[in-house]
Amino acid sequence: MSIHDDDQLRERIGRMLAQGLKTQTEPFPETEREFSQLLDELNRLPADDLEGKLVLSGFTDTPYGEDRMRCQECMYYLVHRKWCDLPELAVPVGPDWWCRLWRI
Ligand code: SF4
Repeated sequence: MSIHDDDQLRERIGRMLAQGLKTQTEPFPETEREFSQLLDELNRLPADDLEGKLVLSGFTDTPYGEDRMRCQECMYYLVHRKWCDLPELAVPVGPDWWCRLWRI
């Protein structure tokens, strides 16, 4: 995918979130086991099910929770590409977005 395609997809995701897509932000996976279960569930989605991915991983287009967690500080965030490098997600994201796979 080119940078241009990434930008278009980021805008599309941003629109879906801005339009109020209800995503599953809770429960936050506290343990390794819960984290891998969530990854397994993501892996079971059809590869082209973008909405399913966003819903299951609990995407928000704003920082989340008391700690204002966001992609910018997540270990999977690639700053220069504005990209989520978690293979199960692999989507363009915004620095102020968040999902419940967030990790530092
Ligand atoms: S795992 Fe979630 S919080 Fe982290 S960069 Fe990807 S979308 Fe953002």
